[in-house]
Amino acid sequence: RGKGGQRGIPFNEPGSLTRVYAVASGKGGVGKSSVTVNLACALAAQGLRVGIVDADVYGFSVPGLMGITQQPTRVDDMILPPVAYGVKVISIGMFVSGNQPVAWRGPMLHRALEQFLTDVYFGDLDALFLDLPPGTGDIAISVAQLLPKAEILVVTTPQAAAADVAERAGAIATQTGQKVAGVIENMSYLEMPDGGRMELFGSGGGQVLAGRLTATVGAEVPLLGQIPLDIQLREGGDTGVPIVLGQAGTPAAAALSGIAGQL
Ligand code: ADP
Repeated sequence: RGKGGQRGIPFNEPGSLTRVYAVASGKGGVGKSSVTVNLACALAAQGLRVGIVDADVYGFSVPGLMGITQQPTRVDDMILPPVAYGVKVISIGMFVSGNQPVAWRGPMLHRALEQFLTDVYFGDLDALFLDLPPGTGDIAISVAQLLPKAEILVVTTPQAAAADVAERAGAIATQTGQKVAGVIENMSYLEMPDGGRMELFGSGGGQVLAGRLTATVGAEVPLLGQIPLDIQLREGGDTGVPIVLGQAGTPAAAALSGIAGQL
């Protein structure tokens, strides 16, 4: 508790050692949520204490990707988040009934996120991931205000047009003073039965984006990795068993674990 009984955001306390990562993308469908969940599970499997805030209000999907059906529980004025694969998870999806669409406006989103960060009991964490909605909307700005030390991870596909929109999502960091921890290229290629690689969505977008963000933010933004297309990654999402846990030997899982190892 801070002064006057007012509860603050624990991750902002001066002694907090939690690394906070806000996972952003320019547009939807590039695999931002799948990447978030797999990075979190990979770190938890190494014994780190990890949490996820699913802040993708309009497209929340983290509970499904992790097979979570439990609801958060309340103890006094704290909310205890469900835990899956050692990861504590809170999602907007846990507070709306059924599969109702969320039609909230900016200020409500801000308050919901603030409540997640203050009232949900995560305990001491080594890493906290925020799955942001695509784009540069209200939530991205709220995250910057509520968690100024959050570092941004930008997920893109190799396509030039996707990298263009993703650049805007990353460049917001210059306005908010946040660090861009790196770029993750997803859906980079499909491995063919003969061992060749089919570049379904073109190539080079991740590297181009990393270079451009380096110039924009004025600090080195690395390309942290390239994740291939893999049916098992999608299936792992559908069944709630992230590929880094269920199919750890696959190239996609290896790429994700390699990225997690750099965080
Ligand atoms: P976003 O959060 O960016 O909207 P999702 O993580 O929900 O994206 O992914 C969109 C869809 O693409 C999901 O069905 C997911 O399983 C699938 N997907 C994501 N990355 C891959 C990949 N590397 N290989 C195969 N399917 C993928």
